[in-house]
Amino acid sequence: MSVVVLGSANLDLVYEVDRIPAPGETVLSRGFEAFPGGKGNNQAIAAARAGADVSFIVALGRDSAADRLAEQATGAGIHLLDRRAGAPTGSAIIFVDRRGENSIVVNSGANAELVDLTAAELRDIASAGVLVLQLETPIATVEAAVRAAKATDTAVVLNAAPSGAVPAELLGQIDILVVNEHEAAELAGEPDGTGERSLLSVLTGHGCAVIITLGADGALVGVPGESPVRVAALKVDAKDTTGAGDAFVGAFAAALDRAERSADLSALVEATEFATAAAALAVQRKGAVPSIPTLEEVRKFRE
Ligand code: ATP
Repeated sequence: MSVVVLGSANLDLVYEVDRIPAPGETVLSRGFEAFPGGKGNNQAIAAARAGADVSFIVALGRDSAADRLAEQATGAGIHLLDRRAGAPTGSAIIFVDRRGENSIVVNSGANAELVDLTAAELRDIASAGVLVLQLETPIATVEAAVRAAKATDTAVVLNAAPSGAVPAELLGQIDILVVNEHEAAELAGEPDGTGERSLLSVLTGHGCAVIITLGADGALVGVPGESPVRVAALKVDAKDTTGAGDAFVGAFAAALDRAERSADLSALVEATEFATAAAALAVQRKGAVPSIPTLEEVRKFRE
């Protein structure tokens, strides 16, 4: 089978500064690095490293950032279905001060031009084992991809991140919703939170399976009408949790694809256990993409 990821790619420009500049102020940077990122990009790489055959539908600009992202994706063995948009490749400027506090400005750029899926892309989605979506690309495109997946039995995984509104009709069509606690609370209409079990019960009320990730507390997995199952996180020395969610979602999709379309509670729990191990490896290393483990590493870690 295969995994199709439809989503964003960004170049993250990270400036280390003594303090974040106030309006009108100029500060000198102590260090600078550019990292390929974006939730779609990171999840596609995580699924490929976890052993899946991955296609990635993405919009890039016509610039050097696009070339760098494309090179990294193809280097990871991903079948890149990219279009070159008029807008520049998506980017983020990130200031990180000495205390580790940050300020971020994101330019969606080409990601906002990921529209009008081609007939070949729709066929790829319809023949895939798993389709993975997030909310950094236009919602109408996400909906079109879901329709193509539902015409066959491609399992649809929606990582509803970053947090925002999702039409109830869309939630009713997806198979598996993956959210962190904050996103779960927003989607359930309980921004102050009411405990993960009650959030899970509100969200499974839409008819989909739901996985709420809980950082160092692991994840809660539920399907409509059954008692949820708690999967504990693995106890590790976390150094950098950036991108833990993406490492989790990509690895989860690869494991689900290997389960060949069985999305019952026990298959979801098994895929969650695999994803939990992948994410535990990722948080022990620096960086979002560089920290994503391979299938071999996850298997060894679980022995
Ligand atoms: P991010 O936005 O930082 O990428 P997220 O908020 O989307 O992450 P989290 O719930 O923080 O997602 O983490 C996803 C998964 O990663 C968790 O379910 C858990 O399995 C693993 N994880 C995160 N933090 C830790 C940690 N400190 N120790 C072990 N595992 C962790």
